[in-house]
Amino acid sequence: MAKDVIIALDFPDKETTLRFLDQFTDVKPYVKIGMELFYAAGPEIVREIKSRGHQIFLDLKLHDIPNTVRSAMRVLADLDVDMTNVHASGTKAMMEAGLAGLTEGCADPDKRPLLIAVTQLTSTDEERMRTDLLIERPLVEVVDHYASNAKAAGLDGVVCSPLEAGRVHRVCGDHFLTITPGIRFAGDAKGDQKRVTTPADARELGSDYIVVGRSITASDDPVAAYKRAVEEFCG
Ligand code: C5P
Repeated sequence: MAKDVIIALDFPDKETTLRFLDQFTDVKPYVKIGMELFYAAGPEIVREIKSRGHQIFLDLKLHDIPNTVRSAMRVLADLDVDMTNVHASGTKAMMEAGLAGLTEGCADPDKRPLLIAVTQLTSTDEERMRTDLLIERPLVEVVDHYASNAKAAGLDGVVCSPLEAGRVHRVCGDHFLTITPGIRFAGDAKGDQKRVTTPADARELGSDYIVVGRSITASDDPVAAYKRAVEEFCG
């Protein structure tokens, strides 16, 4: 089972991002490019980082009608990333369409990027689900259901909290991937994350990949912080 640390490149522009990556001379971390950087720097930043030898999780969280998601995924496939994602709340039909588009867009369908689904955003709690979305079921039930839908649609895994990784594996099987943000070293500030776990705890809880942002990017020594995360998570 894959175990890796993914650094969230939550930077506003290309220059800041490449200056950050320049510090990594002897290792090439798996990195996540999200909406901020992608919208600021465009697809070219993906190609540039890929050419430097990094694996890339393109975190654009697609959510639209199935036909549009299919077409968009066909285009994204050309960027040759290693992982990308959609919202599970877009329905099983939308996830199937996304997977179809991603497969169609790959020159070699055996090498298509992993496709994962966002279950419930960690910024959404039960209160908001009830009042804003009119979802009355407990959050964990919704996460289980969305994960099952993602699996039924043929996706490879979900983004979830490390605290939900065990449940997701019980419901969807050990080979269904859990990609888990909300990671802090012991003693770090939580920032806006509500429920955080350490890399070591995420490992114990069964996460397959951890996504780490500020605990590495805002560290005085990002390379040392990255290596510490790898050591704690991968052993
Ligand atoms: O700085 P921090 O470690 O909190 O960054 C976490 C990263 O994971 C950010 O890029 C954030 O957008 C992303 N993420 C998250 N919670 C989710 C989905 C994605 O924190 N449910």
